[in-house]
Amino acid sequence: LWVSDDGKAAVYLAASAGFCFGVHRAVDTVYDQIKEGQTPICTYGPIIHNEMVVADLKQHGVMEIDDEVQLSGITEGTVVIRSHGVPQRVYEQIKGQGLKLIDATCPYVKKIHQIVKEKSAEGFQIVIIGNAHHPEVEGIMGWCSSPAIVIGTEEEAQKLVESGIQKPLCVVSQTTFNLKKFHKLVEIITQLRYHESAILNTICNATEERQTEADAIAHIADAMIVIGGRNSSNTQKLVDICRKECESTFFVQTFDDLNLRLVPSRGIVGISAGASTPNNIIEEVSKQCRKTILLNRC
Ligand code: SF4
Repeated sequence: LWVSDDGKAAVYLAASAGFCFGVHRAVDTVYDQIKEGQTPICTYGPIIHNEMVVADLKQHGVMEIDDEVQLSGITEGTVVIRSHGVPQRVYEQIKGQGLKLIDATCPYVKKIHQIVKEKSAEGFQIVIIGNAHHPEVEGIMGWCSSPAIVIGTEEEAQKLVESGIQKPLCVVSQTTFNLKKFHKLVEIITQLRYHESAILNTICNATEERQTEADAIAHIADAMIVIGGRNSSNTQKLVDICRKECESTFFVQTFDDLNLRLVPSRGIVGISAGASTPNNIIEEVSKQCRKTILLNRC
């Protein structure tokens, strides 16, 4: 927390802003491979959802493979699996092609893979609360032995209830899903009362902490800045949460996207950032906000 000398303006940076454990681990894994001189190195999908990090890896010679067709064209080297995870068949393909496999899937995501694999084999209908087109969810679906159902809205949850599905459910969540929305959807789904159904809140701690903190800061802020990649699901959730509490919420990828004229010179400017936002970008935004407040007050 930074407060101006006269106490009339403050910049409140969320303590949880910046790389989470899983993102740190995945990014370090790739740089370790570079340091060890491994070549060629590919990542399956962007290693994390941050364009700047991905561009830097590219400069270090790391290639990105986006699907199984591209993977089939790789004949040598190391494939690092992204933090969001991949379907089980991708592991088999990498090994089948004789490539070195390094798994940077976040352990929280890996745990969901194990749950859905076991439960679907036991006959449960897997329900994933999340975005069907997000790579993490596509990865989870690829560990189920029968097709999973993905729901992300109250209407979809209601449709599931009305479908009269006969199997007991195993409900899991995308790790970055909105916690309040998860509880709401579970409330609807549990109208299907099967004793054996398993409802598992698999939203990760890092997400929960970040959302709770962003919510609290946005509640008292006059303007809120959320920093993160445009395709980052957890950042988008933070933006949605902050907009509910603070109308003046701005979503930026880097300092260059920030319109400094919108930074108020009085009151509280809150800053939060997605799990894949590097610290130097957060620091730059925070520093420029403090500078702008001081300049505007001169
Ligand atoms: Fe892992 Fe959570 Fe970070 Fe995703 S947001 S990489 S699940 S710690």
